[in-house]
Amino acid sequence: MTGAALALAVLGHGVVDPSKPWLHADDEGVLRGRAAFETMRIYGGLPFRLEDHLVRLAASAEVLDLPWPDGEALAHLAREAVTAAAAPDAVLRVVWTAGREGDDYGVGFALVTSLPDGLEEQRKAGIALAGLPLAIGAHARAASPWLLPGVKSTSYAVNMAAQREARRRGADDAIFLSLEGVVFEGPTSNLWFREGEMLCTPALDLGILAGVTRDSLLAAAEEQGKPVLEDAFPIERVLAAEEVFTSSSVREVMPVTSIDGQQIGDGTPGPVAAQMQQALRGQAVVDPVD
Ligand code: PLP
Repeated sequence: MTGAALALAVLGHGVVDPSKPWLHADDEGVLRGRAAFETMRIYGGLPFRLEDHLVRLAASAEVLDLPWPDGEALAHLAREAVTAAAAPDAVLRVVWTAGREGDDYGVGFALVTSLPDGLEEQRKAGIALAGLPLAIGAHARAASPWLLPGVKSTSYAVNMAAQREARRRGADDAIFLSLEGVVFEGPTSNLWFREGEMLCTPALDLGILAGVTRDSLLAAAEEQGKPVLEDAFPIERVLAAEEVFTSSSVREVMPVTSIDGQQIGDGTPGPVAAQMQQALRGQAVVDPVD
């Protein structure tokens, strides 16, 4: 769930009142979900890896054939919103829409919201996942560019429906599987599991999103000398892992203690998830803005 709006900045207007409307009803982002967005954490009053998020936003905009987003202008806008929010720990979204039908310039805004409640409690307890099959083969997403593999568009209705279905099944979140049972990613997260010393995570060539947090964890694993395997993994292998966790900007590293009611490991959050969470926070302190 999106937290309370703390500050909003709109391209061409600067910091504005978030309680007022700022988009036109015929903005294609609203009408057709033709918009790209990024969500990142604010740590200590600074956005984490803002430039990397804006690079991914530009890549999404290109696939969606949106007007070119000016990265410098959006970075400035994002910093204006973050300064106006004056919140040490919060969530920053940067959204770039196709604009009004017929216009050839996009609409950009940066929205700062409060963090969702209960994240640390969930991290302590671990979360339950529900495996939700997509009726497609493991390599269909990557082979079908019109399915927008790896693109962060605002067309997230399917992802949100999956989260609701997971909750309906008594789980906290979902994990998408291919027709053959190969694991992809969560609706808003990447998946990891541990076999002995080895960390495993689905490969990007499956058409999943190249998570910025995933990238941070790859760097942390390399620094700590932990081997990582990126591949196509069947769900059975994940279920047999010693520990499982998800990674995402807002929820960071979240231990998974069960999938479809089947206990993972000893059913408690694993030690490497905690190490990775600590490493991620360490990167946020050392290198908060690039
Ligand atoms: N996969 C999907 C489908 C997502 O929507 C997200 C984030 O929202 C992620 C993975 C994790 O990406 P990041 O670590 O950049 O937040």
